[in-house]
Amino acid sequence: MKGENRVAMTPDSARQLQKLGYECLIEKGAGHAAGFDDAAYEAAGVTVIKTAAALWKEADIIAKVRPPTETELKRLNKGKTLISFFNPAENEKGLEIAREKGANVIAMEMVPRISRAQKMDALSSMANIAGYRAVIEAGNNFGRFFTGQVTAAGKVPPAKVLVVGAGVAGLAAIGAAVSLGAIVYAFDVRPEVAEQVESMGAEFVYLDFEDDQDGAETGGYAKPSSPEFREAQLAKFRELAPDMDIVITTALIPNQPAPILWTKDMIQSMKRGSVIVDLAAERGGNVEGTVKDEKIVTDNGVTIIGYTDFPSRMAAQASQLYATNIRHMISDLTPNKDGQIVHDMEDDVIRSATVAYQGEITFPPPPLKVQ
Ligand code: NAD
Repeated sequence: MKGENRVAMTPDSARQLQKLGYECLIEKGAGHAAGFDDAAYEAAGVTVIKTAAALWKEADIIAKVRPPTETELKRLNKGKTLISFFNPAENEKGLEIAREKGANVIAMEMVPRISRAQKMDALSSMANIAGYRAVIEAGNNFGRFFTGQVTAAGKVPPAKVLVVGAGVAGLAAIGAAVSLGAIVYAFDVRPEVAEQVESMGAEFVYLDFEDDQDGAETGGYAKPSSPEFREAQLAKFRELAPDMDIVITTALIPNQPAPILWTKDMIQSMKRGSVIVDLAAERGGNVEGTVKDEKIVTDNGVTIIGYTDFPSRMAAQASQLYATNIRHMISDLTPNKDGQIVHDMEDDVIRSATVAYQGEITFPPPPLKVQ
């Protein structure tokens, strides 16, 4: 697909799926951009099908990366199962078509964040790549070393990196920036991550705030901050901004637009040549002025990157991890390893991820029975 290099099945995952009793098919050229050519699939026992339309007609289970288009959804029918990212909260039309068609749809972003489901947690596997890649993109646009050096030609200071939001992507960014030798600072509204941040060799940024730095909601997610907390946070960022070379923002709150945390005046106070990567660009961005899917340079020479395709920029690795997530989902749907789907709506993980089932919309799911 244009703008998407990942693929939902690799030759390796196809081998595993065949062990579950399935026959595997792939659209011609689907893995090419991720480094898997048709011959590699054929060598793994996969049948290459010439067109997407023929593939959707032929297959009973369709695995995909990006949410399906309307045309694709219209190719579904009763008895077919689609497993894909689906963005169900903002995809009413897609849910409606799936319902009309009587197809079953599993939305990968709805896999609950519980231990048993970690092997299917595509949000985490992709966020991990996005965090790492954000540092690489920042480095690529930053005209200096990350690490400090003392050379015969002069002394080079280490870069200072601030990571805002220390969830899965933020922690991956911290790890990558620390390993490149930068001095890394990180902030999150959830105080429990401070220890994790510090154990990775970064410094946790605390606020001068009389209440605890507690923006934690249930389930490990953040809740919107109070106006007072937000002011204290912005004041701290204002203080840090002139000193930071690279800022990577990853702050998200479930079912809300991304909070704006890096404002125009902070950008104005940054040094020429500094780089901001806004990993929240898909949900509106944490940075004032981010342009989704673009890289811009401000009047004062600060680069702001708003790409939303970081995992696709590491397509081979991302496909390998995503295909493994998909393969585990299919494995859980195939308890008898006989190539037959058992769509068990009593299973918490399968139920939560299923957004359309046998002619009904089943999103949002009920609360989990076991947390
Ligand atoms: P996310 O993408 O929803 O948000 C990213 C980070 O932004 C979070 O750490 C959040 O606290 C932070 N944030 C929100 N508002 C902020 C603000 N105003 N300022 C600074 N930071 C702000 O989060 P995620 O990466 O999906 O992870 C969320 C949680 O889920 C984490 O606790 C993670 O450990 C947990 N998790 C658990 C599992 C599992 O048990 N299977 C899997 C993945 C993630």
